[in-house]
Amino acid sequence: MALAQRLSRLGTETAFAVALAAADWKAQGHRVYPFHLGDLNLPMAPHIVEAMNAAIADGKTGYCPGAGIPPLREALAQDIGERRGTTYDPDQVVVMTGGKPVIGKFLQAVMDPGKGVLYPNPGFPIYESQIEYLGGQALPYGYLPTYDGFAIDLDQGRASTTDDTVALIYNDLQNPISAESSAAEREAIAALAVEHDLWVLSDEAYYEMRYEGTSASIATLPGMAQRTVILYTFSKKFAMTGSRLGCAVAPREIASVLSTMNTNDESCTTHYVQWAGIAALQGDQQPVADMLDVLRERRDVACELVDSIPGMHVQTPRSTFYLFPDVTETLQRMGMSDVSEFATQALHATGVSFCTRRHFGRPLAGEDRDYIRLAYSGIDAADITEGLTALKSWIESA
Ligand code: PMP
Repeated sequence: MALAQRLSRLGTETAFAVALAAADWKAQGHRVYPFHLGDLNLPMAPHIVEAMNAAIADGKTGYCPGAGIPPLREALAQDIGERRGTTYDPDQVVVMTGGKPVIGKFLQAVMDPGKGVLYPNPGFPIYESQIEYLGGQALPYGYLPTYDGFAIDLDQGRASTTDDTVALIYNDLQNPISAESSAAEREAIAALAVEHDLWVLSDEAYYEMRYEGTSASIATLPGMAQRTVILYTFSKKFAMTGSRLGCAVAPREIASVLSTMNTNDESCTTHYVQWAGIAALQGDQQPVADMLDVLRERRDVACELVDSIPGMHVQTPRSTFYLFPDVTETLQRMGMSDVSEFATQALHATGVSFCTRRHFGRPLAGEDRDYIRLAYSGIDAADITEGLTALKSWIESA
């Protein structure tokens, strides 16, 4: 008996392997500072918990519509439209078990085997995994360092586009590098999509996870509404990562296909969790602001320390909860050529656990800088200080 051949093309979120190594080190009695996982160590707001419990007590425990319960679809259409300065009809909203399922279902809807999909690399690793698993050609575009962060390598994006390219994945505000598009960059991506008549998946998982400035969606640019599927999630904004609630906002023809896929795969998203989603959207928004205040403080503490570590450089990101410092010179100083070895040795010497650039897509030809990703969403400010101070001392004494 053999397993299916396509499994050889299935990737994963290798960050979970880093979590296992960290857990193993901790189980051996060592102190660990968790900077590896993009999860929050902050609780779901009490009124959301109450709404979920009330829904269970009220018997909202059976099957419900595959595209989501109507009041949640209405609340999402209203909230997502308003925050993007546009309007959506509830039948364009398809509720899912988190934001992640939108990726694979979008690709199944628009990409036949052999067709190409442009995607960010470094980027959320599930893009590359799902494109290849479903038999497509993964066409990466990278980022270039700028004076205040990173910019999409638009030339590379244009050069990677072939006659067989059918879709583009765009993640603004970006995991892992915290990049944020300028208006000009967003327009250039939209122009590429229009010119080549591409479907676009706009991954807006971090749309409201920002400390300064305002977010904008590529879906609202001219010619984009009819080709763009927005990935929305409750995971970050409402600290609901484990509740698994998100949605796609899509042109009607795609929305109806996504809904049928839901019926095939899950039947529906957990019924009572959807009622908690309504409470999250329509209830008190102060917990969201409070959480962003906590995260902003962590960002500032982490940035200052990282920038003081010999050879490490980072710009202060205005959004998400990741730092993506350039560690090329740190590695040189430590006499190491391999960023994975650096991560392992850092864990064993200091307890600081983090992912590297390699966890976010296959490195591209010509890449000559090394980066690590530090997530500050799951670690308190005091532990950030303690952990990064230990990392600094270890590097200084090398
Ligand atoms: N997109 C990006 C860019 C992410 O970072 C994540 C989660 N880390 C997701 C999508 C998936 O979010 P969810 O947990 O809601 O499935």
